[in-house]
Amino acid sequence: MTNTYFLKDRRALITGATRGIGRAIADEFVRLGAGIIIVARNENEVAKQTEEFKSKGFNVTGISADVSRREGVEKIFNIIGTGSLDILVNNAGFNIRKKTTDYTDEEFSALISTNLQSVFQMSAAAYPLLKKSGRASILNISSVAGLTSLKTGSPYAITKAGIIQLTKNLAAEWAVDGIRVNAIAPWYIKTPLTEGLLNKPDFLKSVLDRTPMKRVGEPREVASAAAFLCSDAASYITGQCIAVDGGFSVYGF
Ligand code: NAP
Repeated sequence: MTNTYFLKDRRALITGATRGIGRAIADEFVRLGAGIIIVARNENEVAKQTEEFKSKGFNVTGISADVSRREGVEKIFNIIGTGSLDILVNNAGFNIRKKTTDYTDEEFSALISTNLQSVFQMSAAAYPLLKKSGRASILNISSVAGLTSLKTGSPYAITKAGIIQLTKNLAAEWAVDGIRVNAIAPWYIKTPLTEGLLNKPDFLKSVLDRTPMKRVGEPREVASAAAFLCSDAASYITGQCIAVDGGFSVYGF
């Protein structure tokens, strides 16, 4: 009997795969047998990660592109061609933390285009390739900031809530094409994006006080949920958002 938890012979595209959560997802996917395409803006980082994977015998293609721009999305799909794609992980994202009244229009636009518009455009561009797979999956990395009010700043929260609704709409629209669409909402995970905040003892304490499991998460703990959702083991799951949060989102008092 086939082990449905494997990703053997799957072709997966992962955005933001040179650091943090995206890097951990890339590690997990190749370990489970997938061939991967990794995307990030920094050319040197992409080349370094690609070589590192290749030196271990994994099937990896690196593409440096900015997913917040239409030209970046087009570059990615021009390079990967028209062959079938089994998995798309929309992970790239960032944040600017401010009071709502302090954002410039440019900062607001950068957050929307990087965190939300990219997910829409990447998914639409990948659709014909995913449809060819017949058992495809999109995974969107949202945040608990898309579920409830946090101190992240409102634009980030809007983008992460938008990702959850987009996940539901695409799941319903593309189920007929054999494409499942799910999301993950992490709470604090130790990555370069959060290390500055988590290094502040007062901030870390306030995070841990709100976390039933009394610790922050590791990137690999998001990666294992990602692998499950993108594997055949999750073949009847679509349109869902799973919190990977140490119990944060269910903790009232
Ligand atoms: P990270 O450590 O800062 O890594 C971000 C990755 O995305 C890097 O590879 C970065 O490479 C790439 N990237 C950023 N902007 C890009 C763009 N415009 N085009 C292409 N690639 C881009 O971040 P992380 O903590 O792993 O976060 C990953 C995702 O999880 C984000 O969507 C974030 O909002 C979400 N998340 C994180 C946490 C957490 O606690 N860490 C919690 C909830 C949700 P380049 O800079 O070279 O492009």
